[in-house]
Amino acid sequence: MNRLTGESLLDFYDIEQQIKARDREIDHPFSKDLQITAIRGARNYAGDKLIRVAPPHKVLDPKNGPLIAVRLHIVSRKTLGGLQTDLSARVLNDSGEVIKGLYAAGEASGFGGGGLHGYRALEGTFLGGCLFSGRTAGRAMALEAEGKE
Ligand SMILES: Cc1cc2nc3c(=O)[nH]c(=O)nc-3n(C[C@H](O)[C@H](O)[C@H](O)COP(=O)(O)OP(=O)(O)OC[C@H]3O[C@@H](n4cnc5c(N)ncnc54)[C@H](O)[C@@H]3O)c2cc1C
Repeated sequence: MNRLTGESLLDFYDIEQQIKARDREIDHPFSKDLQITAIRGARNYAGDKLIRVAPPHKVLDPKNGPLIAVRLHIVSRKTLGGLQTDLSARVLNDSGEVIKGLYAAGEASGFGGGGLHGYRALEGTFLGGCLFSGRTAGRAMALEAEGKE
């Protein structure tokens, strides 16, 4: 991977140490390793155990090899932030007052369209909120243009 990037970003011995430490936790029935705990938790559900979540296994066990390195290109999928808006998609300033003439919709106004489904929104519910906040903003802008806001 270092050859691919032309930079020494990865230290072999550091990575080996981390993986060995992680593999040791597989033998630990009360491990607090978050990933292993999550795998064990998911496998308590029959559906996940049967088709989705492989049994926890050691990365460095030769029978689980060969090791494959994957170069990731990270994209930003959610903002988890955005401009604060009111229910008419009008942007608010730091004091919570409306900034006249400024509207925001979709991810620009926060998680899944102004946080329409709350802070713990489920995956797959974002596009609807983005479209709806766009509609809200459009209607509010039309009313403002007609002087009926
Ligand atoms: C991989 C992935 C999977 C997803 N799966 C789902 C799913 O299954 N269900 C679901 O509901 N949601 C899903 N989402 C979330 C959903 O797609 C987004 O919340 C939604 O598309 C955001 O819409 P938007 O119009 O706010 O922003 P965007 O769709 O990001 O639109 C913003 C637009 O602005 C343009 N732009 C940016 N800067 C400028 C500029 N300076 N000048 C002009 N144009 C500019 C961009 O090119 C882009 O076209 C997924 C998102 C990703 C990334």
